[in-house]
Amino acid sequence: MAIDGRELLETVALQLVKALRLYRFQSIIGTVHPFSDYFRGFEKVEAVRRIFGEKTEQVLRDLKVEFLWIGGYMGVNSGNGHLMVNPKYLNKGDKTDIYLDVIHELVHVRQFMEGKELFDSHYSYTERPTEVEAYRHAVEEARRLSLSDERICEYLKTEWMSGKELEQLASTMNVDRKQIQESGFTE
Ligand SMILES: [Zn+2]
Repeated sequence: MAIDGRELLETVALQLVKALRLYRFQSIIGTVHPFSDYFRGFEKVEAVRRIFGEKTEQVLRDLKVEFLWIGGYMGVNSGNGHLMVNPKYLNKGDKTDIYLDVIHELVHVRQFMEGKELFDSHYSYTERPTEVEAYRHAVEEARRLSLSDERICEYLKTEWMSGKELEQLASTMNVDRKQIQESGFTE
């Protein structure tokens, strides 16, 4: 069973709650699979085509995904460029967040292919150029989907980010920071 990018996009656009039909993840933990076995139709998503251009089909065909229980959500393995995904997040996470995270992580996949240092520790998380670029793509797509600034702030917020860092990231992304204060995100 796969996650269909276009289906997810529709889900997001129509604000429908649709269960991702994932199962048998136990048997695939720690194993490497083609991205396209589990994420379908992303090569048709404009936001993804903006990342890889004409190479989109080829990159997604070659991309591998690793399923891991460790790590909260999604990431890119800086050693081999594989997408790393926690299946629990795919099963339980917010569908809009998952969709935007795929966009974000695919930017890191391209950066890896370009030989960029994904986790340059000279920068804080929210100032790291590779993160700023990945967030730009995700936020641009969020805006195209007409998500509110409040909802985008909610998306940007993660438990490893301080209130100050969230404000900084929101500011860099031109997301209304007043929404952060009103939502109590600075706590
Ligand atoms: Zn990132």
